[in-house]
Amino acid sequence: MKVLVINCGSSSLKYQFMDMETEGVIAKGLVERIGIAGSILKHQPANGEKVDIEKPMPTHKEALQYVMDALIDKDYGVIKNMSEINAVGHRVVHAGEMFASSVVINEEVMKALRGCIDLAPLHNPPNILGIEACKELIPGVPMVAVFDTAFHQTMPKRSYIYAIPYELYDKYKIRRYGFHGTSHRYVSERAAELLGKSLEDIKLITCHLGNGASVAAIEKGKSVDTSMGFTPLEGLVMGTRSGDMDPAIVKYLMDKEGLDAAGVDNLLNKKSGVLGISGVSSDFRDIEQAAEKGNLRAKLALEIFSYRVKKYIGAYAAAMGGVDAIIFTAGLGENSAMMREEVCQGLEFLGVNIDKSKNNVRGKETDISTADSKVKVLLIPTNEELVIARDTKELISK
Ligand code: ADP
Repeated sequence: MKVLVINCGSSSLKYQFMDMETEGVIAKGLVERIGIAGSILKHQPANGEKVDIEKPMPTHKEALQYVMDALIDKDYGVIKNMSEINAVGHRVVHAGEMFASSVVINEEVMKALRGCIDLAPLHNPPNILGIEACKELIPGVPMVAVFDTAFHQTMPKRSYIYAIPYELYDKYKIRRYGFHGTSHRYVSERAAELLGKSLEDIKLITCHLGNGASVAAIEKGKSVDTSMGFTPLEGLVMGTRSGDMDPAIVKYLMDKEGLDAAGVDNLLNKKSGVLGISGVSSDFRDIEQAAEKGNLRAKLALEIFSYRVKKYIGAYAAAMGGVDAIIFTAGLGENSAMMREEVCQGLEFLGVNIDKSKNNVRGKETDISTADSKVKVLLIPTNEELVIARDTKELISK
């Protein structure tokens, strides 16, 4: 079975075409600048040269059409015709409380997704556009939706109810949802395999540290708490997002800076985080470089970032009454030895000891803790596409 995995953003579309007999990637790529001048498709066949295709792509439909053309192209394509696409798996950000696992897409599911637009106004609309474009271009091919929020639906009420009038939960479904669920689920399952233990018997803290970042507490294979909340703004400091702060700052900023609600929302989502603190960049590579050169605000940004991750690890170890392994994943978690070291420093009292030479590694599944570390510390590259493809295969084979 061959599965096309699609992840649509507002102006981008990432895809991965997978052979599920081997779970190998046949081709993958990225469309950028959908709906703006300079649209480009970067297509990478597994056994061939990368090609850049520049064509006007005013909507996600054209973008997807060019992706499909690339897949069947006689020079750089990987299949003869579209009938070789057996199923499509879509990443969908928000399913509210509707779905606690992946689902086969039908009209009812589409209605539910449209119903969640309010909860994820930036993310769900492009996800829906991607599904609709597929439906038009390859009608009849079964499709599955895999949700970022689904894995966290197992959280107990004490983790997800905010301390605001309860009626607001009933009325508007304001609660913690959590995101990056597909990634937290994948690395927790891999961690159990690597540790040679059953998920039932272990307590894990998974740290997804990328441009967006979140931590999850996972007990018996189930998410019991996570740092992102009603939206992906809460929790850790991120590339451009503030993470936790006193909500009273919102009104204060509106008064002092003359901002309206949308202005503050923009400031907290797009101008804050390590970008806001450092004034350098939202990219951790730039910030690490600037810090090395002595930029004090870049140093401060890194310090605040790692301190916040450390606090969440402490909180989740307390919440679960212990922790067997801490897992690092995503862009920063997989690549920055310095960040992993800073996060773990001072956690020796919990039984966390990392081996500096083992930690000097990038993007590779590995145990970076010392042999006698009570808590294992693992680096596990995430693979959300594989989870989406596996769920798709499983659901449509039923
Ligand atoms: P997202 O999917 O949320 O956009 P990623 O998981 O791709 O994010 O992570 C992107 C982040 O990872 C960027 O801030 C980038 O700087 C950081 N990153 C990638 N490689 C390195 C590295 N070698 N050292 C430090 N940070 C890195």
